Amino acid sequence: MGIAERKIEDANLLKAVAALTPDKIQQVVRSVTKGEAGARLAVYHETCMRCGMCAEACHFSLSHKGDPTYTPVGKMEQTMWRLLRTDGRVTPDEIYNMAQIAFTECNMCKRCVHFCPVGIDTGYIISLVRRICHLLGVVPMYILDTAHSHSATMNQMWVKEDEWIDSLMWQEDEARDEFPKLRIPLDKEGSDVLYSVIAPEPKFRTQLIYQAAAIMNQAGIDWTMPAGPGWDNSDMCMMTGNLEMMGRLKRAHYEMAQRLRVKRIVMGECGHAFRSVYDTGNRWLGFKDWPVPIVHSVEFFWELLTTGKIKIPQKFQKPVTIHDPCNITRGYGLMEKLREVVHMLCENVVEMTPNREHTICCCAGGGVINCGPPFKGTRVAGNKVKADVLAATGVEYVIAPCHNCHGGLEDIISHYKLGMHTKFIGDLIFELMEKPGAE
Ligand code: SF4
Ligand code: SF4
Repeated sequence: MGIAERKIEDANLLKAVAALTPDKIQQVVRSVTKGEAGARLAVYHETCMRCGMCAEACHFSLSHKGDPTYTPVGKMEQTMWRLLRTDGRVTPDEIYNMAQIAFTECNMCKRCVHFCPVGIDTGYIISLVRRICHLLGVVPMYILDTAHSHSATMNQMWVKEDEWIDSLMWQEDEARDEFPKLRIPLDKEGSDVLYSVIAPEPKFRTQLIYQAAAIMNQAGIDWTMPAGPGWDNSDMCMMTGNLEMMGRLKRAHYEMAQRLRVKRIVMGECGHAFRSVYDTGNRWLGFKDWPVPIVHSVEFFWELLTTGKIKIPQKFQKPVTIHDPCNITRGYGLMEKLREVVHMLCENVVEMTPNREHTICCCAGGGVINCGPPFKGTRVAGNKVKADVLAATGVEYVIAPCHNCHGGLEDIISHYKLGMHTKFIGDLIFELMEKPGAE
């Protein structure tokens, strides 16, 4: 079934394409294909042999066996390769179809790079299609709303500044019932660690802030959290192709850390936010090195556990499996450190197959989940293969150090009735650690 037959209605896609003209489309396409994109796009276009070996990589094509339109090369064929062949002379309706493919049928997980004999990065090609769609205003409504929230509030969830501070104070208050000496220090200059989170934490996963504060408290870390703009390290603008705003967000994050003169930033358990500092935002800003050192919480937890700052008297006994978030493992190489952390916490670890850099994507951390309810059916149907991989482990618990992965996995687990539960590493550490200061 082709993209035209599986068209899904989205309020903003419909509205935005109605305002397009062929001239406007061509002008924008050329600005990217002949301007921003440079030689890399031309090389990929000229070297792709249409061999189809990438079909075995993508969870969408693996879940829709025999449908070439879901393969990585099929998706490039229907989007960027067509734009290049026509020099951008396509209809508004075709742009709608391309937006649907780019935002909801590719999660930019880059698994296909490992299967392509010449290393073509379909995730990158799709990011360029998203960039064109952003410049044309053709972005699905739900994810566009989060990008607008970033522009208006510098966080993706429309959290007002006083709400952010109230949420931290609320969590500090709650945690002090259990740990009387615990504080969540705000804007403490010169701290060893600036702990930064993504906006869904104060919005609907506040227990993670509570747990992080308890872990910092037990480990005796000199830490702080930011009180003002720049506190949200997430980056939906990276996903929508709004690169200008992506750069503003990253700059605000670093400048906040520099203003506080912290020694380093520890980022919470999120994958896409980390990608936005090691892969995309840093490049857009032209940074050779980070202005302030940054580590992902997997690395930070590894330090706490290996130095004995956090002690685990008894490991988690029930069998668990590990989900490798694409953005921190395939993209950044934390797969072995993640395993060391999980093995320090859990007695019985059953590996998923495939794993590590060959991990099959949860279909969330590349922005597909953020396109919201209209496309949820596409997402879970396109991840039947992940459901099979999860079920084959036979375990009840999946450990995933990434917010979006939790969302994607929970939808797969629920849709395919797998009876599993997801856990963050912070959940496990909080549950298992020695708590001498607790009452
Ligand atoms: S495997 Fe690589 S060369 Fe072959 S069709 Fe896919 S992207 Fe093109
Ligand atoms: S979802 Fe992942 S594997 Fe599939 S085409 Fe996109 S980047 Fe490649």
